[in-house]
Amino acid sequence: MKGADLSRELEMPAGMETLSTPSFSPPENAIWLNETNDITRMFLAAGRIPDMVNIAGGLPEASLYPHEELAEISNRVLLDNPGDCLNYPPIDGLPQLRDCIAERYTTTDLKLTRDNVLILTGGMQGLDLVGKGLVNPGDKIAVQSPAYLGALDAWKPRMPQLDPFFPDANDFQPAKQFHNAKFAYTVPNFSNPTGKLVGVAQREAMIEAALECGSWILEDDPYGALFYDHEPLPRMIDLWSKQNPGEYRGPILYLGTFSKQVAPGLRVGWIIGPPDMIETLTIVKQGSDMCTSGLSQMIAQQAYEEGLPDRILPEILDTYRTRRDALCDAMTESLNQYFYWEKPVGGMFVWATAKQDIADTDRLLEDAMAEKVCISPSSAFDPLGTDRSSVRLNFTFTPPQRLREGARRLAVAMERHLERQRSNS
Ligand code: PMP
Repeated sequence: MKGADLSRELEMPAGMETLSTPSFSPPENAIWLNETNDITRMFLAAGRIPDMVNIAGGLPEASLYPHEELAEISNRVLLDNPGDCLNYPPIDGLPQLRDCIAERYTTTDLKLTRDNVLILTGGMQGLDLVGKGLVNPGDKIAVQSPAYLGALDAWKPRMPQLDPFFPDANDFQPAKQFHNAKFAYTVPNFSNPTGKLVGVAQREAMIEAALECGSWILEDDPYGALFYDHEPLPRMIDLWSKQNPGEYRGPILYLGTFSKQVAPGLRVGWIIGPPDMIETLTIVKQGSDMCTSGLSQMIAQQAYEEGLPDRILPEILDTYRTRRDALCDAMTESLNQYFYWEKPVGGMFVWATAKQDIADTDRLLEDAMAEKVCISPSSAFDPLGTDRSSVRLNFTFTPPQRLREGARRLAVAMERHLERQRSNS
């Protein structure tokens, strides 16, 4: 991006010469910036267009945020403990929140203390810190694909080699795919963008492969509480600990967040790992933001202490289950001739792949926007940026009636898109 031309002439008082200042030509941006995409900015802009059905983003339903309880907690922690709320907290987080997270994840096999926990400014910061702490230019990151756009954005400045892997493929061979990787990135519960679950056998195979290859596994789990149809599957960090009970020293770095359980605006997340890795990531965090807001940490800690996340979960699950069903029913009605998809058993997204080979979902987006429905094309989630076969549809942010309208509009857009593709071929 070229900066504005800042050259200008200064008018000097009468009698003095007119001086011209040197023009400013800004230096080039960093190379990796050429590889970013405009999708995230487009979601945000789409939200402001009147009558747009925005099923592109990944936002929770805002009316489910427990704002009154949070206001009351916030008031209380500020009055009772202004120091912890308003000072710079320790880089690795307030000890009481680290203890609380360690306790929540401790089981008979997995023994955690605060030394296993680093508090983050949202789970997003964990993605950034792991990239910053481990990856030199050209290093390999094995990435479950299609992948979370934010993770790809976080790692691009490190100029890695992103190597896609597909846990549900018949030829999935994690040991081959993790070979020489600094870490392998997986979202086993309802990946963003596909909404798919990684099965227990594949989770176990990935752990074995990480041990064999000497790579870390980054288990990113923002959607782990959002199971709509059955009990949660075991986390990978728990599968490891079942085989290796005791103080945690394993190869899995587990990433959790307050965002999907309560509210993303507080920006509180955490990473769980062996103590020496937590120390390393703490050094990295120091140079990133120095610390996570003490007020947000105090609110999160108090909310957990009072059981708030568990109390509001049933309503969140009911609302999202209803919306998931509404979107999938509407897709069956309007989109069956155009897309394949599977009904997800949790999370926030449906992944739909075009039945017609000529479809190009980057271009479909233009037709969809013209019909006032905003979707996310698959190229944004492909580490290599080339897949144009699919779309991600979000169902948590939009009420059922509008989801039905969105599916209807998408069918109109797809019909127009296919006509255009046929006439261009
Ligand atoms: N990982 C994944 C897979 C996500 O979908 C998100 C948010 N959409 C995050 C991490 C980051 O979430 P946050 O920073 O709000 O904790």
